[in-house]
Amino acid sequence: MAVALARLAGWASRLSGRGGSSLPGLVARRIYPGVLRDLSSRLKWGTALITGTNGKTTTAAIVRRILAASGQSALSNRAGANLILGLTAAFTEAPWRPAKRAFLALLETDEATMPQAGKELKPRVVTVTNFFRDQLDRYGELSTTVAYVRRGIEGMAEEAVLVLNADDPQVAALDTGERQSVFFGLNSLTSTRSSSEDAMDARFCPHCGSNLLYHARHYAHLGHYQCPHCGWARPAPQVLVERWDQGRELVWIRINGEEHELSWRIPGLYNLYNLAAAVSTGLALNIPPGVILGSLREFKPAFGRMESLWVKSVRMWLALVKNPVGFNQVLAMVAENASAGERAIMVLINDRYADGQDVSWLWDVDFEHWVEALGPISWFVGGIRARDMAVRLKYAGVQASRVVVEENIPALLDRALSDLEEGTLYVLPTYTAMLEVRRQLTQRGLAPHFREG
Ligand SMILES: [Zn+2]
Repeated sequence: MAVALARLAGWASRLSGRGGSSLPGLVARRIYPGVLRDLSSRLKWGTALITGTNGKTTTAAIVRRILAASGQSALSNRAGANLILGLTAAFTEAPWRPAKRAFLALLETDEATMPQAGKELKPRVVTVTNFFRDQLDRYGELSTTVAYVRRGIEGMAEEAVLVLNADDPQVAALDTGERQSVFFGLNSLTSTRSSSEDAMDARFCPHCGSNLLYHARHYAHLGHYQCPHCGWARPAPQVLVERWDQGRELVWIRINGEEHELSWRIPGLYNLYNLAAAVSTGLALNIPPGVILGSLREFKPAFGRMESLWVKSVRMWLALVKNPVGFNQVLAMVAENASAGERAIMVLINDRYADGQDVSWLWDVDFEHWVEALGPISWFVGGIRARDMAVRLKYAGVQASRVVVEENIPALLDRALSDLEEGTLYVLPTYTAMLEVRRQLTQRGLAPHFREG
């Protein structure tokens, strides 16, 4: 009954155009509080959770692709619906018929939801991408976030597997030796950018609190480290991205000592971490490396996370921004893509609950560096907190004549598309602003193949 009424609620909410993803979960849990525990315990292969600050959605999208290639049908939650209600809805909305029934649940899970998700879902695999300072008002300090994830891991069965980022000290330290761990990481790549202004979240040893020593740093606090005091060091990764040739769109990845070449068309250093996390998750789910690599040949990211589309003669790139490190990485991607003709950047900042209500993190984005690196470029800023963003750019040294401020997103899109007749427009929205942009593009018939997730 809980499932039936949840589906009915979901159907009614879609019909009324709200498309709310939390209502079915809410209804199901009200009727039967044990619904998630019950439904998940019926899955033949159990549940895999993906958590961490950045990269959950992209990593989950890559793992879904790997699972599809291996012939395992998985149910999953919609992008961003990663609180307990969203996870519950993923189960109540999955097909009932035995022929279509999923073997496995693959769920991107908010860090703060991990204790409850761990307890109810008893995950078989937990993948942790990274820990960065994100949405301070919701989570408080980074150590609180880490503690949430640790509690989630405690809910795992003893035979469960942890998939951990070896290059992030806080993530690597989640391995206590009680369970099997698969570590992933990056080799020292040529594109290493080591700047002191780069937001640093965790540079202290999680065991003794001393300053960590870095031999190589990929970005922020991710890199090759060692504690000079207690001797704790980055674990050796079983899945290692060895090299990346961006021009030829090739990546060399070492899996349990064996090197493989893979064509990889997704820009951004941070996506190499998502790739490594997904490959490791596949291994933890006992999928053979050959199947994993074969499934990734034609991988393209989900719409909205970094998709590009043509609007007349303007190429539009969309990438979600939600915290300083992610924002820096997206701007690095824009800077890398210098041959894109005339370029403009649109930043859309909302401060609704799903975006994070505290926008002070904008001050931790390294705009000073990027404004210089990008050279003269037009900025369009919009959303509820457009003015905060405009002030931030002003302090970063952008001339006022180069910034168009318009809170109304549709109006700003019109303005940008008429100002920029051809070239590239990078649209960088927070979560609810992204939904608004998608809605606008769909309404204008510009994103006909739009698919969520
Ligand atoms: Zn130490």
